[in-house]
Amino acid sequence: MLELLNHCRLCPRCCGVNRNKGERGFCGADSTVRVGRASLHYWEEPCLSGERGSGTVFFSYCTLQCVYCQNSQISHDHLGKEITLSRLAEIFLELQKKGAHNLNLVTPTHYVPQIITALDAAKADGLSLPVVYNTSGYERAETLRLLDSHVDIYLPDFKYASAGSASRYSAAGDYADVVKAALDIMTEQAGLPSFDEDGMMKRGVIVRHLILPGHYEETREILRYLHKRYGNRIYISLMNQYTPFARAKAYPEINCKVPQRDYDALVDYAVELGVENGFIQEEGTAEESFIPLFDGQGC
Ligand code: SF4
Repeated sequence: MLELLNHCRLCPRCCGVNRNKGERGFCGADSTVRVGRASLHYWEEPCLSGERGSGTVFFSYCTLQCVYCQNSQISHDHLGKEITLSRLAEIFLELQKKGAHNLNLVTPTHYVPQIITALDAAKADGLSLPVVYNTSGYERAETLRLLDSHVDIYLPDFKYASAGSASRYSAAGDYADVVKAALDIMTEQAGLPSFDEDGMMKRGVIVRHLILPGHYEETREILRYLHKRYGNRIYISLMNQYTPFARAKAYPEINCKVPQRDYDALVDYAVELGVENGFIQEEGTAEESFIPLFDGQGC
C-alpha cells in the first residue's frame, strides 16, 4: 500500500513524485504523516457530533489549497506534529476510548495509504467506530476504490459548479467534473443513509456546500444537481460559516462574509426544490471561534 507513494497519483493533481524519497508535490506532503489536532469535535452536523463529539483527526497539508481555506494553518502553513503510523493507530483508539461517536478523518486524501495501514492496525486492536472520510471532494476514482470497506460515511464538499471559480480559488478547473464522478462512487460505496437508535449516522453521504459571497448562482446550480441526481439518497449540508481567511484579501469579491438574508434565501431555494434531507446552520457560525486550534492536541 505505501508503495503508492513512490509515484504519487493519489489525487487528480497526479504529480508523480516519490514521496517515499522525500519528494513533495502540489499538496506539500512527503510520506511522513503530520497531524494538526486530534480531539473530540462538537461542531459537525448533529448526526456526527452527537453529545459526545466526533473523533476528529485534522491532517496537515491539502491537495486543493483554496485561497480562502478556513483551516489554512494546517493546509497552507503545515502546522502540526509528525507521527508514526503506529502512533496514528493509537490516536484512533484513544478517540474511541474518549467516547467519540465516530472517527472523522479531515483532509485525508494525500495520506490514504498511511491511513488504511493505521486503520487496519487499529481495527485489529478493537477499533469499531464508523469511519468518516471528510474531504474537499477532489478525489480520484482509483483512490476512492482503495477506501471501499474502510469508510462508512463520506463527508465531501461540493465547492464549485464553474471551472472559473474552481480555477481562480483552488487552481483546479476540473473540480466540478471530478467531484461529480467522485460522488457517484461515494454513494455507491456508502449506500443509503442509516442511523442508530440515537440518531447518529452509521453509513451514508453528507455533501457539504460552503456558500461563497456573491457566488449564489453556483450554489443554486449545485443544489439543483445534487437534488436531481441523488434526491433523498444523500444529505445536503448548506453552510454559511464562510470567513475571509488566508489569501482571501487578494480576492475582493470574496473578502467578506455571507449576509444572513442571502443565506436564508438560498435555504428557501433548497426547500422550494424539494430538498428534505438537509442541514442548515444557525446565525453566528461565521466566527473564528468555531475554527479549532491546531496546537497538536491529542497527537
Ligand atoms: S497527493 Fe499530493 S503529491 Fe500526490 S498527487 Fe496529490 S498533490 Fe500530488
